[in-house]
Amino acid sequence: MQDYVIDENGYYGEFGGAYIPEILHKCVKELEEAYLRIIDSPKFQRDFDQLLCDYVGRPSPLYHSPQLSERYGCKVYLKREDLNHTGAHKINNTIGQILIAREMGKTRIIAETGAGQHGVATATVCALMQMPCTVYMGKTDMERQRVNVKKMEMLGATVREVISGNMTLKDATNDAIRDWCSNPTDTHYIIGSVVGPHPYPDMVTRLQSVIGKEIKLQLLEKEGREYPDYLVACVGGGSNAAGTIHDFLDNDKVQILLAEAGGKGVESGETAATIHLGSVGVLHGCKTLLMQNEDGQVTEPYSISAGLDYPGIGPVHAHLARTERARVVAVDDEEALRAAFELTRREGIIPALESAHALAALEKAAFSTDDIVVVTLSGRGDKDLETYFKYEDQFKTKSLKTKNQFKTKDQ
Ligand SMILES: *Cc1c(COP(=O)(O)O)cnc(C)c1O
Repeated sequence: MQDYVIDENGYYGEFGGAYIPEILHKCVKELEEAYLRIIDSPKFQRDFDQLLCDYVGRPSPLYHSPQLSERYGCKVYLKREDLNHTGAHKINNTIGQILIAREMGKTRIIAETGAGQHGVATATVCALMQMPCTVYMGKTDMERQRVNVKKMEMLGATVREVISGNMTLKDATNDAIRDWCSNPTDTHYIIGSVVGPHPYPDMVTRLQSVIGKEIKLQLLEKEGREYPDYLVACVGGGSNAAGTIHDFLDNDKVQILLAEAGGKGVESGETAATIHLGSVGVLHGCKTLLMQNEDGQVTEPYSISAGLDYPGIGPVHAHLARTERARVVAVDDEEALRAAFELTRREGIIPALESAHALAALEKAAFSTDDIVVVTLSGRGDKDLETYFKYEDQFKTKSLKTKNQFKTKDQ
């Protein structure tokens, strides 16, 4: 049987590893030696479970969507990560990592952020644990995401403006790494997805795997069996997807459908469809698939959704795509917007634009009536309202056209 978990060298097949500057070897090694011992300890598990329950609001519901079920001719469940404190799955990871950092005796936290969601999730847990927090963010992103900058500052974090390169996520990451190099003993670097050098992809997967563990229990209760026929999730770096699928990877009855951001179309030049277009390279400390030109220059990704706008992909997903354990579809901006408006109108749930990509992926599969399909709704749409308002008129008419595909609830 194909192995989908990390090997002892930190690789998933040919992807992963730790490609880092010499000065960071000690920090990464220290983390590598500590994380499994801490995560498996009863103390960590007790603290983590308790905070996930009382602070985050877990378990998040598994909601059977009558409307989507009828639309797609199967049984659709939504895993409601949008109901977590701070409105997305990212808090699962930051809570876990700050507990690990504390156990390792670290007293200061740093993070990088693009759209600001990971920065806010990190600033939140730093307030909770009363630890100083510095978040690196590109100047361009700071201008685009004023509210998240203000939120982080209100939570007590210092937001450092990064003015090198394109002044976006890649540059913020470089500055965060530079900070870590200068403060290796007291500082823990909280990475926001299943990316970066080993052990981050595995550590973040384990922390997010609470999503899949809950799905198992909830399906057992609702359906009498602990696995679905399909798991569906969106992939930016890949943490909500990895957390959703981790505990099901060995069960070949479970099909995995992942949605990456097609942007304006895979061939348009304005896209973040890393798995469709990427080639092997090294990004942010790990070997993975990334979008690059012939000279190995990373190309600037584009998606309407800030959280999927990443030129790389977690090594686990590169491996799952390469071995065809997962099917990866590209969902473009328009398809995601349509899916977001549909869920809003049909179920009264405004999803994050990222999560809307997962919803739109349902269009690209053929289900049979007995199929149980679980879609991870990674976050809520509050942060995307400006974008939604901009396209509202366009999709109001579109959704009228598709209306007769639905039966309304009182029919
Ligand atoms: C950040 C974010 C994502 C993308 O990150 P992954 O690591 O791929 O999960 C997806 N959905 C939401 C709501 C996000 O905030």
